[in-house]
Amino acid sequence: MKKHMSIAIDGPSGVGKSTLAKNLSDRLGYAYVDTGAMFRTFAVLFLDKGIAPEDEEGISRALEDAEISIRYEDGVQRMILNGSDVTDRLRTEEVSHMASVSSQYSCVRERLLSVQRELAESNDVIMDGRDIGTVVLPDAGLKVFLTADSGVRALRRYNEYKEKGILDGRSVEDVEKEILDRDYRDSHRDIAPLKAAEDAFVLDTSRLNADEVTERIIERLNESKTC
Ligand code: C5P
Repeated sequence: MKKHMSIAIDGPSGVGKSTLAKNLSDRLGYAYVDTGAMFRTFAVLFLDKGIAPEDEEGISRALEDAEISIRYEDGVQRMILNGSDVTDRLRTEEVSHMASVSSQYSCVRERLLSVQRELAESNDVIMDGRDIGTVVLPDAGLKVFLTADSGVRALRRYNEYKEKGILDGRSVEDVEKEILDRDYRDSHRDIAPLKAAEDAFVLDTSRLNADEVTERIIERLNESKTC
């Protein structure tokens, strides 16, 4: 069986993982797999069922008959939950919060781990998330860990929300607090915490634009092919 290529991109919220992943996907022709969208999809399920984020048992029960799948439309990842496309519901603050809390539970992570690994076994992928280089794809051909000052990340998220019309009256400071809370939870959980793999290429994107980040990673990829 042909072994597929994979690139793992990890880092905290708002650091530019998805922009980099999309740019690399366009350049290299690999499928872009946004694993955060998978956690968000299950968050929609828990919210629809009225389950509290702290109710691990209820969350585990809700997963028993839940089906999640991915479809690509014009290269864009669509998330399907129990047969319905929920992609347009994934970016609200309510969903972000539920995804952030429920992602600490082993029942949620294990369900998604198998989906993520299956995708990487049957496609060349660029996968972004928090634990891709450390847990999901420890043998990825290239592992990237992006960092940036929290103020810079908050401003990027604020502008993105504003553009999409989902700011809901939040200030840059509100957005910064939200992302710092989520980063704290992600880096302090017991299972698959957010951290750089030992062999990851760590890049601080605070003073780089999206094109510069992409070029640095392409350079790194070419270097890794020649050595
Ligand atoms: O990347 P995004 O903000 O869409 O991810 C939503 C949430 O899903 C994160 O706050 C994080 O808690 C969780 N997540 C995770 N592991 C991943 C991807 C996302 O725990 N690989």
